[in-house]
Amino acid sequence: MKTEECLQRIGDDLWFTEIDRNNLKIDYRIKEVVYRENSPLQEIIVLDSYDFGRMLVLDDAVQTTSGDGYIYNEMISHVPLNIHPSPKNVLIIGGGDCGVAREVSKYSNVERIDMVEIDEMVVRTSLKYLPEVSGGKPDPRVNFIFQDGTCYVKENRDYLYDVIIIDSSDPVGPAVKLFELDFYKDVYDNLCKDGLMVCQSESPIFYTEIFTKIYKNLSSLFPIVKPYMATVPTYPGGFWTFTIGSKKYSDVNPGKFDKETKYVNREIIESCFALPNFVKEELGII
Ligand code: SAM
Repeated sequence: MKTEECLQRIGDDLWFTEIDRNNLKIDYRIKEVVYRENSPLQEIIVLDSYDFGRMLVLDDAVQTTSGDGYIYNEMISHVPLNIHPSPKNVLIIGGGDCGVAREVSKYSNVERIDMVEIDEMVVRTSLKYLPEVSGGKPDPRVNFIFQDGTCYVKENRDYLYDVIIIDSSDPVGPAVKLFELDFYKDVYDNLCKDGLMVCQSESPIFYTEIFTKIYKNLSSLFPIVKPYMATVPTYPGGFWTFTIGSKKYSDVNPGKFDKETKYVNREIIESCFALPNFVKEELGII
């Protein structure tokens, strides 16, 4: 919790600085600090920025913004939901800004949306101060469970899921365990026999080790592992990856993509699996 040094007044302007791995600084000019509070787990700040509108910041790391959060939230949601042919039960792990729950709610065939978020205050804050991302009011199908996602998948014996979406913060603090093999094993066990999971798998440029470890771990469990990419301007480097682990399905469902979205369409879902050569090299698939 070191935000004082990350929010600075320079002349008449207020700036928020995100420091990534002590190597990279990203500065945002800020109109105002909308909300700032410590939860038992992390410092939660909502900023209103000039370029990206409202921003959710947890322990000095930008999580999502009104200006570009839809790219990430749509990509981590619609891609797996258009590979599974009939998702009915969906589990979201993390996802406190509620943007993923909002996207999943666009599927009328989905009957149950369980969202396991460790920090209830992130959800309350996002519903109140980040309506452009969260939608302001959750769909009645969303069942919030405020618990550590690793414990939930270890203990859950009640439901098997068609799709599990791991929308975690970076691997720091309580999110570290969401990137480990033991957790993915439990995720595998929480999926139906034809289920699939997706996780945000970080930058292939700045977090190569994490990205490749996720690929290796998922490959040790799932017969089908498919990384895909999108550009999210507020994440370090902009270049971002997601990785699917699937027990059965690998192809995009036929038919029209009919959801109301700002970024995703059928062409994006079909082309996002095209990987640059350096990424294929990192994964050893070239
Ligand atoms: N899209 C964002 C990104 O890539 O930075 C992440 C969005 S969401 C805000 C991440 C959420 O994961 C946070 O609300 C955080 O509280 C939650 N989280 C972190 N560790 C967790 C855990 N072990 N179990 C459940 N939720 C966790």
